[in-house]
Amino acid sequence: MSQQYDFLIVGTGLFGAVFAQQAREAGKSVLLLEARDHIGGNCHSEAHPGTNIIVHTYGTHIFHTNSREIWDYINRFTGFNRYQHRVLTTHRDRVYAMPINLGTINQFYGVNLRPSEVPAFLESKKGNIPNPANLEEKAISLIGEDLYGAFIKNYTIKQWGCDPRELPANIITRLPVRSSYHDSYFNDKYQGIPLEGYTPIFERMIEGIPVEMGVDFLAERDYWMSRARQVVYTGPIDRFFGYEHGRLNWRSVRFETELVDVEDYQGTSVMNYADIEVPFTRIHEPRHLHLEKEQTPGKTVIIREFSQVDNDRPYYPVNFAEDREKLAKYQEMATREGNILFGGRLAEYKYYDMHQVIGSALQKARKVLGGEDQTSV
Ligand code: UDP
Repeated sequence: MSQQYDFLIVGTGLFGAVFAQQAREAGKSVLLLEARDHIGGNCHSEAHPGTNIIVHTYGTHIFHTNSREIWDYINRFTGFNRYQHRVLTTHRDRVYAMPINLGTINQFYGVNLRPSEVPAFLESKKGNIPNPANLEEKAISLIGEDLYGAFIKNYTIKQWGCDPRELPANIITRLPVRSSYHDSYFNDKYQGIPLEGYTPIFERMIEGIPVEMGVDFLAERDYWMSRARQVVYTGPIDRFFGYEHGRLNWRSVRFETELVDVEDYQGTSVMNYADIEVPFTRIHEPRHLHLEKEQTPGKTVIIREFSQVDNDRPYYPVNFAEDREKLAKYQEMATREGNILFGGRLAEYKYYDMHQVIGSALQKARKVLGGEDQTSV
């Protein structure tokens, strides 16, 4: 008779790893399953062979949060450097600050506005859209047609593979619009890159917990379910239910990595490409994430990011109206699965950032493990 566990956790991404860590800390026995050949989900990182540059395998991940509790929690497993994320975007061979700030506006229009003049200036550019109902309307209501057309429209078409009018408005409210020259991508109080990348965080979180690698839980669901009293599932929710109500739309990305013989290729960690003629959405140059480190001289790694559909590597929940209808049906089915908890970006079909996944995993773990829930995350 194989060993019975208190928890079977499907997936070693952030939700699964945090939940597992909390369960183990509460004295529970845990078994982790991982379909891939590495832990950490899309946070996984590894050293680029031939250089000592740490590469985030699934695209640049910047840790940021406003929550002291989440910051303290993640700091139990890693130190952070003092990196502050700044993004630039290339439009018609010129480089601008992103998100749109006073510098972007002044450079784009060839003006020299002061902060106090920005609201009236943008007001004169904005369309009159009283109730913006989609990404395009929301963006135009915030910044007007010109800036939208230059920096948002084509990037969004490339990134999401659809008309921005089909996308929910809240995707664009992730980005602030600033009337100052402040160019930090995030407004959060705490921010940084883990000193040794993300993978060691996961190794420490799940230390001592058995992990079965390369396992497709759904292919042998009954067997694995029989191994534990409670299951935590962090894979795609539509796949769990055999696509009974159809597939949810996911957006994926593909990376082309290149080692180039210059020490600094683009002068920054992430350069966006706003124009439709450029087939990739951005170029990552990870050495810029670790200015505190001695890194290989004379060489750098660059990674071009192409957006695509690939249901085997889901990244972004697209959230079309049809997806929201399907999701409601799957969520209803999930409520009837007594001992299965669904959590994380894939199982909740939510465009979570890392700190939000941690907050959600901590809250759910506390609820299930019976501790007092005092979080406000
Ligand atoms: N976006 C854009 N132009 C940019 C950067 C972002 O139009 O230069 C839009 C795009 O629709 C994107 C959304 O803003 O999907 C959110 O961007 P964010 O950087 O938060 O996306 P992530 O880093 O999660 O891919």
